Amino acid sequence: MQPIIALVGRPNVGKSTLFNRLTKSRDALVADLPGLTRDRQYGTGKMGERAYLVVDTGGFEPEQKEGIVAEMARQTRAAIDEADVVIFVVDARTGLHPEDEEIAAYLRRSGRPVFLAVNKAEGLGDQFPAADFHALGLGEPEPISAAHGSGVAELMARVLPALPQEAEAAPTAQGPRIAVLGRPNVGKSTLVNRMLGEERVIVYDMPGTTRDSIYIPFERHGKQYVMIDTAGVRRRARVQGGIEKLSVIKTLKALEDATVVILVLDARSEISEQDAHLAGLALEMGRAIIVAVNKWDGLEQHQREWIKGQLERRLPFLTYAPVHFISALHGTGVGDLYKSIDKLAAGAERHFSTAQLNKILADAVAAHQPPLVRGHRIKLRYVHQGGHNPVTLVVHGSRVDELPDAYRRYLEATYRKVLKLEGVPVRLVFKQGE
Ligand code: GDP
Ligand code: GDP
Repeated sequence: MQPIIALVGRPNVGKSTLFNRLTKSRDALVADLPGLTRDRQYGTGKMGERAYLVVDTGGFEPEQKEGIVAEMARQTRAAIDEADVVIFVVDARTGLHPEDEEIAAYLRRSGRPVFLAVNKAEGLGDQFPAADFHALGLGEPEPISAAHGSGVAELMARVLPALPQEAEAAPTAQGPRIAVLGRPNVGKSTLVNRMLGEERVIVYDMPGTTRDSIYIPFERHGKQYVMIDTAGVRRRARVQGGIEKLSVIKTLKALEDATVVILVLDARSEISEQDAHLAGLALEMGRAIIVAVNKWDGLEQHQREWIKGQLERRLPFLTYAPVHFISALHGTGVGDLYKSIDKLAAGAERHFSTAQLNKILADAVAAHQPPLVRGHRIKLRYVHQGGHNPVTLVVHGSRVDELPDAYRRYLEATYRKVLKLEGVPVRLVFKQGE
């Protein structure tokens, strides 16, 4: 589980600029899949050997307001509560603002480790109002320029050691870990209950799982699984009269922990940005995805055609994911979901020998030479498996930095096809060697 850094601050201080800088070095897997909506709020990043998740909390409105603003403030508080570290961003050019003081007061009470980043400090020299910011009582202000990059390494040199070494691990239950994701009202809780209620599932208690745990180990047809309860199904049953939604951070953690993600869509409504964001996030984390188009019961033929068209247009980057049309309410198609779960989970955990991987590389290169770059041929020498879930293949060669994306995709598709990894994300990592 990667540690989580939350970016907090007033609007316009430069949080999203800093976010982009901290999440710049992404894996190439989803770099340019057509139609993929990048999530602007959550991302993965890495500095040196240290990987982390960054959450841009958007804005912080200390004062309770109605509607969307109040909801945003609630999300921000949830993010602060669950983050391992908070970077509080303020603006060197506007100086200390009354709202900064309110946010600081909240942060001091939160008990989280907080680092104060004074942004837009480029070229300010001595004029940077350090003393004012110091008075916030959040330690030494760190002048940075998110836009130019200066000071960010110094900031992170303080932040990284404050991250927990090993974030809380999931219980050691056996079997594929299933995360059911989707926006509100698509039928996640109904599906989770249906899946756990199917075929005399035995939900058993595991050491390390508490009643509030989001991990629900269960058995079906003698096989073990773990349901990651992103929908908050069990909580919801106990919270009087309230629909308690789990926070975005819990969703992120669930995604991290999952072997297989079931993305639930509502056949009766448009596929939205939010659906695409969730799909993109699962993909970015390299999770195997199953699309479950729910509420399939009682639909007219034209409605069925309509939602299939939506799928093709709005989620074109999910081409390799199996699609199931289900009714969580009636249970139709739910048994079949397990077939995909078993298949994808097995794929994500498979191990391939270096000999087999090398043979596929040699055949792929023989069929299609890598292009010449400024008169030099890019050489791909050998491949080994670097990890599971996602299946990570490390390709060693020379001038691999210059390998065009089209060729990377060709190799990825070849591996997926030959290794029969349909539906399973395959991540190719290229390593420069002699
Ligand atoms: P957010 O609302 O906190 O996410 O702020 P943004 O990242 O959207 O930045 C707000 C504005 O500040 C934009 O116009 C940015 O270009 C600008 N900005 C961000 N970082 C810097 C910086 O380091 N220096 C300067 N001069 N401007 C910056
Ligand atoms: P969640 O917010 O994603 O957990 O969604 P819920 O499971 O609470 O379901 C939202 C609403 O959709 C409820 O009224 C459900 O009864 C309804 N619903 C869920 N699954 C189905 C389905 O397969 N068919 C139909 N017609 N309604 C469903």
